[in-house]
Amino acid sequence: MKRFILFDIDGTLLRTRGAGSHAFTRALADVLPGASLPASFSPHGRTDPDIFREIGEHIYSRPATDRELTTLADRYIHHFQTTLAEAKNFEVFPGIEKLVKELHADEKVALGIETGNLEITARLKLKRGALDHFFSFGGFGSDAPDRSEIVRIALERGLNLVGGKTQGRLSPIIIGDSIQDMKAAKSNGAFAVGVLTGGADQGALKKAGADKVFTDFSSSSEFLELLLELVV
Ligand SMILES: [Mg+2]
Repeated sequence: MKRFILFDIDGTLLRTRGAGSHAFTRALADVLPGASLPASFSPHGRTDPDIFREIGEHIYSRPATDRELTTLADRYIHHFQTTLAEAKNFEVFPGIEKLVKELHADEKVALGIETGNLEITARLKLKRGALDHFFSFGGFGSDAPDRSEIVRIALERGLNLVGGKTQGRLSPIIIGDSIQDMKAAKSNGAFAVGVLTGGADQGALKKAGADKVFTDFSSSSEFLELLLELVV
């Protein structure tokens, strides 16, 4: 019996410090030269398909067609490879590498990703952070525009990976920095762990359903203790 633990990427494992926003800006400029992102633009906690929809509507003043959205996504992926390489202040958060390494080594744990990122950009971020080999499955923004559905898909893939064995009474654990992560965890019957490294405050995460909130994971033993409590 394995416990599934899914990590969000941005604001939870690492931060790219603008690589995504810069790539969105460049993709937008390819489609409509001189255009800039909407003043209210904020990617926090959102899925990439949702962001492409907003940018599409901003450009065309109407809902973008599937073809237009595909073009935007293609341009975004193209530029992201450069903006990620240019992101000088890219950072894996304190304690993450140790925590993820310890969880990965635990045979009772199956470690996965749940992110609004397209799978290709998610993997590029994990690779730059030298975290890619710790995660054997995941759900991505390229799977669905809705985060609850992304979590559901990730858990389904995890189950397939471990041979379809049920988890019994061990509920999955979802770790994220946004309100959307907490809501997606609860709608999938998971234990929701919030972390404050992404900018959301404790009250907002708790209100969205967080069962436990950490300031950061600089002390990985704190998280591992929680895990032991949950196993009992
Ligand atoms: Mg996040």
